[in-house]
Amino acid sequence: MVERISRREMLKLSGAALGGLALGGCSASAGDAPPIPADFDELNPPFPLTQRNTLFANLAPMNPIEPVGANEMRIAFMGTTVVQRRTQFCSSVYVELGNGESFVFDCGAGVTVNYTAMQIPMSKMRKVFLTHLHGDHTSDLTHLYCFGPQQDGKSPLYVFGHSASGIEDPQIPGKYYDDGTLNFCRHFREMNRWHTESQSFVPTRWKVGAEDGDGYDIIATELDWRTGGRRTWTSADPYPEGAPVFRPSGWVAYEKNGVRISFFPAVHDRNGSISYKLEWLDKGLSMIFAGDTKPNQFMLDNATSGSTGVDVLIHEMVVPPEVWVVKNGGSVDDVAAMNLARSIQENSHTPEKAFGYLMNEIAKRGKAPRLAVATHFQAEDDTIIKAMERIRSWYAGPVTVAADFMVLKVTRDSIDQRRAVVSDYSWDPPSAYPYASQGTYPPKYADTSSCNPYKPMAPLAQFDPSLLDKVVDPCLYDASDFGCTNPYPYPCGVGKKSAT
Ligand SMILES: [Zn+2]
Repeated sequence: MVERISRREMLKLSGAALGGLALGGCSASAGDAPPIPADFDELNPPFPLTQRNTLFANLAPMNPIEPVGANEMRIAFMGTTVVQRRTQFCSSVYVELGNGESFVFDCGAGVTVNYTAMQIPMSKMRKVFLTHLHGDHTSDLTHLYCFGPQQDGKSPLYVFGHSASGIEDPQIPGKYYDDGTLNFCRHFREMNRWHTESQSFVPTRWKVGAEDGDGYDIIATELDWRTGGRRTWTSADPYPEGAPVFRPSGWVAYEKNGVRISFFPAVHDRNGSISYKLEWLDKGLSMIFAGDTKPNQFMLDNATSGSTGVDVLIHEMVVPPEVWVVKNGGSVDDVAAMNLARSIQENSHTPEKAFGYLMNEIAKRGKAPRLAVATHFQAEDDTIIKAMERIRSWYAGPVTVAADFMVLKVTRDSIDQRRAVVSDYSWDPPSAYPYASQGTYPPKYADTSSCNPYKPMAPLAQFDPSLLDKVVDPCLYDASDFGCTNPYPYPCGVGKKSAT
């Protein structure tokens, strides 16, 4: 039985040594454990191998708030699996560039916990690119949206995502759902109405530098997976009913400040899913985030379309169906369970050998990525060992497997893989909005009357008198309480609009 995996073995498997990547600061020393036996049992791995990720643990530590270098593209893995668990939340990749631009790719369940741990301010999370509308890629958009304006995210949330599937409901002839990103955002905005109104007793919009709107505005851009066109809707405007009208955009989702983010179709579950390619044109750096997909030709074309390959290619990968079934407490003898697992792979995902095959095909065209990253993968020693073996059956270039808090510091000269060291007890990060010192507009529920000690904020503006009448007088429990020494009597200000 294998008890430990040496750093040397992990380096060998990851190909990090081949790629000449900096992996200093390790805690284990090479050769201090036996090699992995040839008869390693994938379906019944030794217990310790299922409870740790040596590849990640051996990365050099870094402080997550280390400033991004002027020539650096920093890629932080904020969520790396579909199986939401303590060590890995769902899908999200955060990219920050040395020119100050920052982007969120997918915002799956749980990942905002990691954003807080990494001390990434809400003002840097205002542009979100969704690969598809599965909950493991969108769920934490609710938290990001609802609490952004309570922190320094007081400018509109830009959401990019795919167009409708165009699939007819097999049980309702003639029924085609508007299941694209604009309609998603329209209902998302209304779904959160109680939240956004309630919290608008405090300011939600900057005075300077965010002229395009309020923190609770949504500016949605829908990307047509068929034609590469684009259409936009702002939550302040009427929804564009009827057949969608896309403007040609040449498969470009976003282009500003020397950064271009293009998109291309992915093949995942249902028409619509897309992949993104980010190019920092000024610095000649690029990355691809595949989202979820079966191995496909679009990826091969887009990963090889430049004069060089992309610097970092992030692609999903899935364990074999029998591993999936056994890990979830089932048996490979259960035909129904096995067929379900196979069906999900066939419908949606990229097997480990296919990941290696794709990278090799890209390399054969002279465009191998400087680093290939497998993600959307339950990364622990036993799964990584077998995945690397299968990838290596096709591809010898630099590969790693993502884990939450893995950070890539990418420059023209190097790709430095790091392990962000975070606190489990972090509070929200301080404001990083550049014009914060110039203040905010008054809140929507404002009360500027002189008897309001909290003006212009109106914390009582949304209560009915029947509720306020029943509030316990703060002077009864603490004579020094602010509410006792600075009473806010009802009726006081203009904010109270209750009908009764
Ligand atoms: Zn997914």
